[in-house]
Amino acid sequence: MKVLTFILLLFTTNLAFANYCQTVRQTYHCPGTEKYPLHLSFDDGPADLTPALLDVLKRERIQATFLIVADRIDCNNHRPACISGNKDSCQMYRYCLDHRQTLKRIKNEGHMIGSHSYKHVRHSTIPVATMKRHIVKSKQLLQPFFTTSPALFRLPYGDGWFNRNKTTHVMDELKRQNFQHLAWEMSAYDWRESDQKGDRILRTVMKEICTKKRGGVILFHDGDHEKPHEGRTFTNENMAQWIPAMRCVADFKPLSFFYKNLRYK
Ligand SMILES: [Zn+2]
Repeated sequence: MKVLTFILLLFTTNLAFANYCQTVRQTYHCPGTEKYPLHLSFDDGPADLTPALLDVLKRERIQATFLIVADRIDCNNHRPACISGNKDSCQMYRYCLDHRQTLKRIKNEGHMIGSHSYKHVRHSTIPVATMKRHIVKSKQLLQPFFTTSPALFRLPYGDGWFNRNKTTHVMDELKRQNFQHLAWEMSAYDWRESDQKGDRILRTVMKEICTKKRGGVILFHDGDHEKPHEGRTFTNENMAQWIPAMRCVADFKPLSFFYKNLRYK
């Protein structure tokens, strides 16, 4: 009897999901039944709302990749001023310690971790020595958290990667430091404030997948380089709704599905 109830429940759940997906496909102009492989990646964190995003990913059993701005977890930056009594520094120190904890949780929950450099700046435009220092410093701070060998790196704004044919020095330095650059095939454009309302971001994602008929690594943001501790609120708060809709047209895959040349720790 129990088995029968289970089968009936499974059948009803599947039917409900099929109906839901039919509506999703109609709403977002995704005809057919084809699904594409998709890997979620999140830049600019960790931030205050990253733990809420981790809850969603855990519930949905999705492995994602997080590209970390290393100065978010460089807590020794704030400690001396805090000890000397500067209240703002103490606040920053506390945020930093929280973000460090979040980074540990990201690793413990089986997500991939890479560097988004030390500071969120355009690497091809800053002095070469500074660019090198940012890359090396991020490597030193994030070394215990890296999940692949070579370690992953994504350049802020893609600067140094998009223009790699014109200016090679940034990519050369990444190679020298034994980093593998992680690009993206699709962007959710979730950083555009004008898109942070209703279902605009989901619409962009569905259009990318269904019109171009392809999968790949997609770029989202859990952090925000302008609001370093708060992060990208709209994305973190809405991912729970977006994932079921994306699931109608995509199969979520681990990074290893797309990057087979890396050694996974
Ligand atoms: Zn970024």
